[in-house]
Amino acid sequence: MEYCLITDALCKQYRNFKALNGLSMHVPQGSIYGLVGKNGAGKTTLIRLISGIQEPTSGNYTLYGVKNTDKAIYKVRQRMGAVVESPAIYLDMTAEENLKIQYQVLGIPSYEGITELLQLVDLTECGKKKVKNFSLGMKQRLGIAVALCGNPDFLVLDEPINGLDPQGIIEIRELILKLNRELQITILISSHILDELSKLATHYGFVDRGMIVKEISAADLDAVCRKCTRLSVTDTRILCRVLDGMGLEYNIVSNTQADVFGEISVTKLAIALDREHCEVKSMNERDESLENYYMNLVGGGRDA
Ligand code: ATP
Repeated sequence: MEYCLITDALCKQYRNFKALNGLSMHVPQGSIYGLVGKNGAGKTTLIRLISGIQEPTSGNYTLYGVKNTDKAIYKVRQRMGAVVESPAIYLDMTAEENLKIQYQVLGIPSYEGITELLQLVDLTECGKKKVKNFSLGMKQRLGIAVALCGNPDFLVLDEPINGLDPQGIIEIRELILKLNRELQITILISSHILDELSKLATHYGFVDRGMIVKEISAADLDAVCRKCTRLSVTDTRILCRVLDGMGLEYNIVSNTQADVFGEISVTKLAIALDREHCEVKSMNERDESLENYYMNLVGGGRDA
């Protein structure tokens, strides 16, 4: 497998606090790599280091085979675009003016690609509107367009859906999938919104206290995670008896709900419950696999 980014025991120390503590990760080319971790785990610090905004205290990283200590890193970093923390955009300008500024910064001689970029992020309609009057989702999409100006094939997005409304989240999700699938851009995306990440990521890196505690592909994650079905019934005491009798593993969620793990025979279960006069109100397969996996890896406490 070819990797566009490999980090090796990266450390970043602020006074006597280690924000990164030997972080080693591998981002395969063509992947959407989800970097998952609690607040303060070190995600933004990692992104700042690989973007060249800060230097590591020790350890190193390789971008498209070029080590960060090599002079050629400046050249190879042109293959990378990033939106770190908030998008780097000027609020008193239009979307087009922002892109022109970025073209000038990068020394791109013609503005030819700008119309196409605005189309790509669905901002063609905003014409003379100043960015300060954009929705958060539009600002985020413009930030991504700015990061795409140099035509990178590796895009790094730090918490791109934070604070967005459901429509904004869908638009960013569709844009990320389009960039990855149609333009073959490798994407590293940090997020603590696991449900959303699970709709995108092909690979995961779980960060805790400045270290990667596990890297796994989405396909392998699916294979190791158990299926979970949430049942709503009239009486969970009867449900427990029936599930025990069928040798199924479960977790009681409330007086009327339980999560049942593994493959279940819906017909057999419904007949057994009916015999005991317990009614099944609803039955849904839940995609909790990523959340459960994450909780088992790093435990509860603060939000992911
Ligand atoms: P969040 O989701 O909250 O942004 P994160 O995983 O991105 O979390 P970082 O922003 O990388 O976490 O921060 C990691 C740790 O390093 C935190 O405890 C943070 O307080 C600390 N930290 C970050 N920057 C500095 C700094 N310049 N000086 C001192 N400590 C810092």
